[in-house]
Parts: sequence; C-alpha cells; structure tokens
Amino acid sequence: MSFSQLGLSAELLRAVSEEGYERPTPVQKQAIPAVLNGKDLLAGAQTGTGKTAAFTLPLLQLLNETPNAPATRRMVRALVLTPTRELAAQIHESVVTYGRYLPLRATVVFGGVGITPQIDRLRKGVDILVATPGRLLDLVGQRVLDLSRVEILVLDEADRMLDMGFIHDVRKIINLLPRKRQNLLFSATFSDEIRTLSGQILHAPLEIEVARRNAPTELVSHTVYAVEKDRKHELLAYLVGSGRWKQVLVFVRTKHGADRLARQLERDGIDTGVLHGNKSQGARTQALAGFKNGKVTVLVATDIAARGLDIDQLPHVVNYELPNVPEDYVHRIGRTGRAGSSGEALSLVCQEEIKLLAAIERVLNKDIPRVTAPGFEPSFSLDTRNPNLPRSALKGSSRGANEGASRRNSQTPPGRWNSGTPKAKQADPGRRR
Ligand code: AMP
Repeated sequence: MSFSQLGLSAELLRAVSEEGYERPTPVQKQAIPAVLNGKDLLAGAQTGTGKTAAFTLPLLQLLNETPNAPATRRMVRALVLTPTRELAAQIHESVVTYGRYLPLRATVVFGGVGITPQIDRLRKGVDILVATPGRLLDLVGQRVLDLSRVEILVLDEADRMLDMGFIHDVRKIINLLPRKRQNLLFSATFSDEIRTLSGQILHAPLEIEVARRNAPTELVSHTVYAVEKDRKHELLAYLVGSGRWKQVLVFVRTKHGADRLARQLERDGIDTGVLHGNKSQGARTQALAGFKNGKVTVLVATDIAARGLDIDQLPHVVNYELPNVPEDYVHRIGRTGRAGSSGEALSLVCQEEIKLLAAIERVLNKDIPRVTAPGFEPSFSLDTRNPNLPRSALKGSSRGANEGASRRNSQTPPGRWNSGTPKAKQADPGRRR
C-alpha cells in the first residue's frame, strides 16, 4: 500500500515523499483513514512505529479542509499533549515538516524555558499547539490561551503522562475544551487508569494495536557483562575504546549517577553528553543534537529523559545499571537494531542486580548470555537460579553443571541470539543454568 491510497492531499503526499517515506507503517495505514473520517482513536503504539505521522498527517488535512480565520484571530484548533519537552519539540518539528505546503500555523510550548516568547507566538495566532500539560495550564492561567475552539485533541504517550503524575493537569485541560471534538489517544501500554481515561474521553474509538517495528528479540544481540560494581565505568570506557564505538546510548538509573558517569567518561577523553530531567532545556537540546550529528560519542540518559526520543537505529545501547522495571529494559533496547540494521544491547551487571536480571529474563522469556571482559572477571557468578552463591562455591560439586554451560555457550556463540560473534568476549565459565 502507498501513501496516496490513504486519502491524503497532494501537499501532504509531497512532504511525505520528500521525507523519503515510501510506504505507510502499520499504524499509519490503520489510523490515517479513520482519523480522516472523523473517528476517535485508541492506539497502542510506541515511539518508532511512525505514530507521530499517523496522527499529524490526517490532523493537518482535516484542519486544512475547513477555512481559517485571519492569522491574528486564529484560535487553537488542534491540541497535542505530550509528557516531555523533547517529545513536544519533536512533534512540533514533525508538524512543521509535514505541513510545510499548507497554510497552517503551529507552535510548541513547554516548561523550563522562558514563557514570554511562547506568549508572543500564541498571540500571533496558531492552528496547532503542541504542549506539555504544566506549561499549558500556566498559559491558560495567564489568560493568553483560549482552548474553546479545539476540534482535535491528541494525547500522545498517555501512559507516560499518567506515570509522570500529569493526570490532574490532563483532566483540567480536557475540561477547558469543547465537548464536541475528535480525540486521539496513543499509549504504549494499557493500564486500568488508561482504560478509565479513554472510556471517559473517547467516543466509539477505533482501537488499533501495533508492535514495534521489530520485536526486541529480533536483530538485537543481548549480552550481560558480569562486572564488579566499582569497575563498571572502567569496563564501559574499555568497551567504547576497544570496539571503536562511535555512537552509544548509555542508560543509568539516577540523574546524579548520569552526571557522575559523564564526568568520568569525559576524563577518559570520550566525548559525552547527558540527558536527564534536571538539565536545562538548552543543555538537553545541545546534548541530543551533538549525539545525533556524531560530535558526541556517548549519551548518558535516564529512562524518563530518553522516553519517546526519536533516537533509534543505534548500533549500541548499554544498560550501565539495570532498570527497576523489567519492561524498561525492552524500551531501552528498542533503540537499537531498527529497520534491518543489527544492534547490540549490553548490560553491565553487578551482584546486587541479579534479581533485576532474573525479572528481565522472565519478561523476555529468554536467558541472556553472560560474558566477561578480559581483566574484568568478577568474584561472583550471575546465576539467577542461585543468586547468593559466591563464585568460589561453584567449584567442586557443581562443576559438571558449569561445564555443561560452557559447552552450550560454545555451540551458541556467546552474546548472540542471532548470528555473529562478538569480539573480545569469553563465555563466563562460572555461569550455571
Ligand atoms: P515515531 O514513531 O513517530 O517516533 O517515528 C519514528 C521514526 O520513523 C521517525 O524518525 C519518522 O521520521 C520515521 N517514519 C515515520 N513514518 C515513516 C514511514 N512511513 N516510512 C519511513 N520512516 C517513517
């Protein structure tokens, strides 16, 4: 199927083709005709599925089909709510890109930057507003924003908005909108809370659910490096250097940890950027731009900061610390191995994280191969079935089992679920399964 079969106008088809998109993605195929028909939508789709274009393209077309007020009297007709500043900026960029041959105006508002330029832009009149909930309510409070003419509401990454505590803000905003409007809700997961919210705001929605462009088990090789906690930084620097990695996204659990690791890597001479919630908007934008254009080799990020960012098809994703929530592992590694290119997801795991590792393996329904780097052999074994045994206790009576594990590892190349043999790795002889 081609984009022209979806009922999009020539101006939009031109913009899409200039972006190099040849075929609509599954979510686009399903969502675009339904939205053009005025239907509400409940879509289970994550970043990377093409969901932004799935709502932006039909939204632009619908707005363009009915006449506009003169520029200065324009009121917001489409409102896109999204949890993070980065996501808001990216969606706005997409709206501008796809709408470049249409006479519509869009702007974006989010916290962490001065409000005055945003007020000035709103006063000039906009058709499409992309916003994070808190800043939107600030603007409403300052009486510079009238939402009484909104025709289309998009809630993007609704699950994240709720996770981040925006539910009250979202409800307040919805109460400011006209009752009659079209609603599009996108969420990667469907908790009871999301179900309740969608039940309250959507009218007879079309429900669609799409998988990521590739499932995490395909194309991506998963490896666990067993390593002492206080040697993780050294191991990471070694892996980046010895593998001559050019672009690696590193996940850590805390903002403080992200800053510390970035400082350490910089001291090692590795160009490093940081992305977390305490960084100023300018610093985040700069870090992301540097990473995308190749000036920054390592981008250290927390889960929340990285959520929803359009950075994918990365060759390497490193879990410097395992996430507390196993599903976050899946989100993190969804950044690598996209669109036919293969990728590596490496986790540096210390003894304290063994339970988290076991939980991740349960979610994946797979064992992740363990390896050690030469010179970084730890004093423990990452045996998820027997987490408290020190490595020395595995000698003697359990030897047979160890040998079995080594043999199996030598049949399946270590560190791979698919193909290819990683460099400079050896199977962890202490691993028992
Ligand atoms: P999203 O899921 O909206 O974050 O989109 C993920 C990425 O897919 C973005 O970089 C888009 O530019 C890209 N994309 C969206 N639609 C298509 C398409 N039909 N063909 C190829 N790439 C696309």
